[in-house]
Amino acid sequence: MSASEYNMTEPDSIVVGGGIVGASIAFGLARSGERVVLLDEGDVAFRASRGNFALVWVQSKGLALPPYAAWTQQSAREWHDLARILSDETGVDVAHSQPGGFTLCLSQKEVDARLDKLTRFHNRPDAPHFPYEILDHDEVKKRLPDIGDEVVGAVYSPLDGHANPLLLMRALHSYLGVKGGEYRPGHAVDAIAVEGDGFRLKGAWGELRAAKLILAAGLGNARLAPMVGLEAPVKPSRGQLIVTEKTSPFLCNPLVTIRQTNEGGVLIGDSKEEAGFENITGTGVLSIMAERAFRMFPKLRHLNVVRTWSALRVMSADGFPIYDQTHSGPPAFVTSCHSGITLAGVHAMTLAPTLSRSARLPEILAPFTPKRFHVPAH
Ligand SMILES: Cc1cc2nc3c(=O)[nH]c(=O)nc-3n(C[C@H](O)[C@H](O)[C@H](O)COP(=O)(O)OP(=O)(O)OC[C@H]3O[C@@H](n4cnc5c(N)ncnc54)[C@H](O)[C@@H]3O)c2cc1C
Repeated sequence: MSASEYNMTEPDSIVVGGGIVGASIAFGLARSGERVVLLDEGDVAFRASRGNFALVWVQSKGLALPPYAAWTQQSAREWHDLARILSDETGVDVAHSQPGGFTLCLSQKEVDARLDKLTRFHNRPDAPHFPYEILDHDEVKKRLPDIGDEVVGAVYSPLDGHANPLLLMRALHSYLGVKGGEYRPGHAVDAIAVEGDGFRLKGAWGELRAAKLILAAGLGNARLAPMVGLEAPVKPSRGQLIVTEKTSPFLCNPLVTIRQTNEGGVLIGDSKEEAGFENITGTGVLSIMAERAFRMFPKLRHLNVVRTWSALRVMSADGFPIYDQTHSGPPAFVTSCHSGITLAGVHAMTLAPTLSRSARLPEILAPFTPKRFHVPAH
């Protein structure tokens, strides 16, 4: 579509970045009655939203930062409404389920390390407690009969789940259309200027103005945020994944590194590598991931691999999300996180409605300002 084929000349808000984070926020703004335009560079960009493992995961999140644990738990709860609304309004079932998730351990040392972290977290007076169980081999075997002999134990939490990220993207983009908003792919933003009580955004496609701006451009936020006096110090962290041929259902619970998708393939994930912007795969890392997965589920050895790929996480220095806002002039916000699937519930159902209502971030997000990285040099 060319710029002239779009209708809105001055929307209420512009969201930059049409990945999961931007699309979730655009969903919530449109649902709150705003006229929203979602500008996206397109498939040429690095897009974590297309290449991720798609867990809606609680059990390991925020164990060192209780507000992050609380935000994540809230998101897991709000995911149910998000999935239902998307299905009702767009007809797209995003394959969300919350059957509970396992972290399998291949040594007693791994079990002890996890137990230690969970115990420390639950001993903190400010920690939002969540249900979990530490299971031994026999108990895991009862619940996951196909595990191998080398599995020593597991952590299980009933709050963990998963979804289909590609269907989620499609549903969020469709929802925007249903609500009269506009998703504009092929619209890379090159420059942003404050202009009176709003912002003017420019790119090769032309210009667009709005009173409110949300930057959700993944790794692109690092360049865009300073244009409005904000910062988003994020870097890529590469993750490689393997998907097998489809097989009959044997694993209805997601595991932190293995899950069977709604279509039958088994996803094996996902490495964490500092490799700059190189999103390539390599047999070295893939074979380590596969070997560990075989030890957990020996039957995986008999499946063919149909595809491997890598994608770049949007990572801050401490691994926690970044949320920030302008304190003078027109309202602009920046959102960057490495668990955008998990946080889709809260971005769509809590963050965006709050931005619409008050043009301020929710109070719970105060610890996530990038000012935390301003450590004085010694
Ligand atoms: C291997 C891997 C596994 C993962 N597993 C999970 C998981 O299990 N659970 C989970 O919750 N999360 C997971 N994640 C993280 C999750 O995928 C990301 O948090 C999420 O996709 C980030 O979404 P985003 O919209 O911020 O970024 P992206 O998906 O990277 O999208 C950013 C968008 O911004 C656009 N853009 C950039 N610059 C501009 C510009 N100048 N103008 C216009 N548009 C621009 C791009 O076109 C792009 O579409 C995983 C990520 C990886 C890589």
